[in-house]
Amino acid sequence: MIYLGVDLGGTHIGIGLVDENGIIIQKEAPTLAHRPYQQVLETIVGACRDLIEESAVDQNDIRAIGVGIPGIETPSGMSHAKNLAWNGVPLRADMSRLLGKNTYIDNDAHAAALAEMGYGNLKGVSDAIMLTLGTGVGGAMIVNGKILSGYNHAGGELGHVTFVQGGIPCACGRRGCLEKYTAASALIRIAKEYALRHLNTCLYEKGEDLNDVTAKDVVDGVRNGDTACKQAFEDYCEYLSDGIVSFINMLNPQKICLGGGLSKAGDILFDKVREKCRERYFSPLHMETEIVPALLKNDAGILGAAMIAKQND
Ligand SMILES: [Zn+2]
Repeated sequence: MIYLGVDLGGTHIGIGLVDENGIIIQKEAPTLAHRPYQQVLETIVGACRDLIEESAVDQNDIRAIGVGIPGIETPSGMSHAKNLAWNGVPLRADMSRLLGKNTYIDNDAHAAALAEMGYGNLKGVSDAIMLTLGTGVGGAMIVNGKILSGYNHAGGELGHVTFVQGGIPCACGRRGCLEKYTAASALIRIAKEYALRHLNTCLYEKGEDLNDVTAKDVVDGVRNGDTACKQAFEDYCEYLSDGIVSFINMLNPQKICLGGGLSKAGDILFDKVREKCRERYFSPLHMETEIVPALLKNDAGILGAAMIAKQND
């Protein structure tokens, strides 16, 4: 059976046809998130139709559609996504009607976790936590092989637990959320602060105002021994390890899986975070939790979205 998976992000839309072996064919389209919902919907539906036409797949073989969104769907079928300015849009009903297939919506971090459970580093793992370290921090808690999403299906927002009381203002309206200290954007902010004290840092090669500095620039700086980057990365890993150990103490997972852009930093990140977590563990039992990278990288969203459809249909 074939499922259509749609990974809807703030900047791009990934669409793929997925069978039991993985993605058969995929394509991308820009989200252009500032546009009204109706226009974004037209882009998604148009790209889905084009993909089906380009593939050799018989439309009748497509069982259902799954969509991972950077937000949540309420039980009444309304989608909410802050960075798309969606405050209750009928995405599920519209896509079902326009494409003629049952459509299922879930949070994008939940989709990434499902993908890792189906094809990646969480295969066969019953209890785990997924954290996606990107512009924000997405989360998923997996308990007894199922994603724990709460009574209204809105749970698992691990990036929005209070980390610093009265801390940095967050897009969610509160202050000091974990996301403000452990997202890739947090690493950039911390690095810019250190750059003001280390004027010889490589970060100024991207321009005096530091506006174009990326998380990858900071990680590259760490690899090259840049002092500002190394100090920023040290602080960042302290924050992330504090967050991770709190989640380990809460759920006692077998694995913590880190995805999102920053997880691509590889050993430089994982070695340091594992070392810092070892200093913080509550008991030897808690030390058994493995901290692993997400395996699927760019395909996770589409594969996870297809699994949303498979699990629900
Ligand atoms: Zn928040």
